[in-house]
Amino acid sequence: MNIHEYQAKALLRSYGAPVSDGRPVMRAEEAKTAAGELDGPLWVVKAQIHAGGRGKGSFKEADAGEKGGVRLARSVEEAAEEAKKMLGRTLVTHQTGPAGKQVNRIYIEDGSEIETELYLALLVDRATSRVSFVCSTEGGMDIEEVADKTPEKILSFSVDPATGYQPYHGRRIAFSLGLKGQQVKQCVKLMDTLYRLFIEKDMEMLEINPLIVTDKGDLKCLDAKMGFDGNAIYRHDDIAALRDETEEDSKELAASKYDLNYIALDGEIGCMVNGAGLAMATMDIIKLKGAEPANFLDVGGGATKEKVTEAFKIITSDENVKGILVNIFGGIMRCDVIAEGVIAAVKEVGLQVPLVVRLEGTNVDQGKEIINNSGLDVIAADNLSDAAEKIVKAVKG
Ligand code: ADP
Ligand code: MG
Repeated sequence: MNIHEYQAKALLRSYGAPVSDGRPVMRAEEAKTAAGELDGPLWVVKAQIHAGGRGKGSFKEADAGEKGGVRLARSVEEAAEEAKKMLGRTLVTHQTGPAGKQVNRIYIEDGSEIETELYLALLVDRATSRVSFVCSTEGGMDIEEVADKTPEKILSFSVDPATGYQPYHGRRIAFSLGLKGQQVKQCVKLMDTLYRLFIEKDMEMLEINPLIVTDKGDLKCLDAKMGFDGNAIYRHDDIAALRDETEEDSKELAASKYDLNYIALDGEIGCMVNGAGLAMATMDIIKLKGAEPANFLDVGGGATKEKVTEAFKIITSDENVKGILVNIFGGIMRCDVIAEGVIAAVKEVGLQVPLVVRLEGTNVDQGKEIINNSGLDVIAADNLSDAAEKIVKAVKG
């Protein structure tokens, strides 16, 4: 689960990390009061969407102005004006995809005088199975580009969970970032704070880009991105309360309410599968047969009729879907029960595109009989390869 920059900064502030003073704004009328509460003489008006690259992004609507999603203002009036221009408009960045994201919230904060922009992140490193600090002197810009062109400029320091964070981690990071004197002390303290926050809130990712050195020589977190482990959210009511459902894919949101593991993709073949491994194998074989999956969907071990119906609704609500492949292994569940569920779901939801059903496992013959006798236009398949071929042929002709 991701949160907005202004929410992440409030968390950082509550842990004592250095951030600028700022005010979130939900409605244009609030912008002037919010900006007026800050000191000036420089204000920064920032679009709040769950995507990075806002500064270099651009708006779809002409009346949002030429500038990107991070704008400088020299007066309260100008700050309010810029906030009004961005609210309700669609911001496109390299992370949003071409559709962009509607800006429903703005953050107005005190402008900082920047001496240097650095990069810092904490993440769970799968290779070492540890939490790692990732840092670079090349902050502010696209870290992806740095990773691509000059990977030697990105350094990583992993933390042994047995010792946890130690001041020497912070000193190593400080020296690798070229920090000196007081800044080294500030860095050691800030890294301690960030590590504590990361662990205590069960984060998956914490990115400060840029971490700056101000003109006064102090460290400050100028941007903040946080991602939390969805499986641990139940332990953090304060974090769960920050969820902004308007930022999430509506189909993924509906799926999460029914405990379906669903991820929307760009292809044309909707997949309904039980088990994550089988779901991945199904996606692979669809690609192998020359088409692209429209989604990943694991309906889980206990695929009830209700779940199957809901899964159908979600798949068919995707207008890119030109055909559906149901691939279920009846292990704990029996194939005849699943077949009845599929038929009932198709009858309830209706079917505008070809449907191929492949069943395997307990009571598979009864299952196939139910599909064949349903009177519905369902194509039965014998095995996975056959199923993939049939659905690709049905879609591509
Ligand atoms: P994004 O990463 O989505 O583009 P950032 O918050 O990193 O958004 O802002 C982009 C750039 O805007 C920063 O690299 C920095 O140069 C500038 N910037 C952001 N916030 C401030 C601020 N409070 N004061 C001065 N400059 C800022
Ligand atoms: Mg940034």
